[in-house]
Amino acid sequence: MIRFDDVSKQYAGGTTAVDHLDLEAPTGQITVLVGPSGCGKTTTLRMVNRMIEPTSGTIWLDDQDTGKMDAAEMRRGIGYVIQAAGLFPHRTVLDNVGTVPELLGWDKKRTRERSMELLERVGLDTAFAKRYPSQLSGGQQQRVGVARALAADPPVMLMDEPFSAVDPIVREQLQDEFLRLQGELGKTILFVTHDIDEAIKLGDQVAVLRVGGKLAQLAEPAYLLAHPIDDFVAGFVGRDRGYRALGFHETPDLQLTTEPTIGLGATPDQARSASSDGWLLVVDGDRKPLGWVEPHRLGRDIDREMLHRGGTVARVHGPLRAVLDAALSSPSRRGVLVDDDGALAGTVRADQVLTVIERTERPDDDAADDRYQRQDAS
Ligand code: ADP
Repeated sequence: MIRFDDVSKQYAGGTTAVDHLDLEAPTGQITVLVGPSGCGKTTTLRMVNRMIEPTSGTIWLDDQDTGKMDAAEMRRGIGYVIQAAGLFPHRTVLDNVGTVPELLGWDKKRTRERSMELLERVGLDTAFAKRYPSQLSGGQQQRVGVARALAADPPVMLMDEPFSAVDPIVREQLQDEFLRLQGELGKTILFVTHDIDEAIKLGDQVAVLRVGGKLAQLAEPAYLLAHPIDDFVAGFVGRDRGYRALGFHETPDLQLTTEPTIGLGATPDQARSASSDGWLLVVDGDRKPLGWVEPHRLGRDIDREMLHRGGTVARVHGPLRAVLDAALSSPSRRGVLVDDDGALAGTVRADQVLTVIERTERPDDDAADDRYQRQDAS
């Protein structure tokens, strides 16, 4: 069990990322934290393994106060999976999976056997063991990330948008396999996503957070859909109704905004003069998007380490749903659209996408209404 007891986090500068959170993630279950970008999901997750220290309140792992545990030791007992896997590029797949057992001092043979077993468990051919992460597809890397987190068989897993950076078909496969695996393993899991569909599909219980880091509602998925507690939750759950129906429709003409960009190696001053607001998009030599920086926070020239990679990237003529996903997940709130070669085409805001959704016919609406019968909050 993971229990948040009146936990708050204020960042230097005054942002309240998490505001008096009370929440319990029961043993052996998946608890999903869902909400729009900036509502404090990642902060909440990272306070559990103390990559971020709470300003006040207590987080309990069973009957232990995490604030009083040795942070490094505790982290080895908690599996942690992040978006785009976060694998070590210069280590083979096998060595990546064996990272924690190695830290724990397991002998080589045992580490190797365990790593091989896990690769199979997450659905990867063991022929991948000797390869390097860059030789794998995004979905395969994500599987390695899950295997690595499971290596020392931790009872608790923290998962931060683990499936967001892969395309929707691979994402569904990964979700299905993850549920199958969890059926066998029964870990205590705290899972962060901005995608209400994913939350509904994976969560034994779902916690909806609003910007400002307040818990809006905690409920089982079916209850959440049927009884959203207020307009915010109804909107968050209900908005999905429109775009679920549109999931397979191609994106009609969207007005794309030309996004200012900058390359790796640029100085903070260059970044500040290129940026039109708090966020600036970094692209590579082929204009492929790499991630975002906050120019006013830069203390050194731009490198890959500092990039905020949050946010999925959508194709210009891909499904509307993917475009909305890109906008909702982007730290700048501007969704990044790319052409068929993966080069930047422009950006779009979520409200623009929602306007298009409203305007477009929704043939599946009646079916959606049946599934989402709820006490209307407005
Ligand atoms: P989410 O994961 O839901 O997108 P975060 O937990 O990343 O939300 O962020 C919550 C809020 O805290 C946002 O307003 C964000 O800008 C702010 N924030 C996050 N990290 C920092 C930081 N290191 N310093 C200052 N503010 C931060």
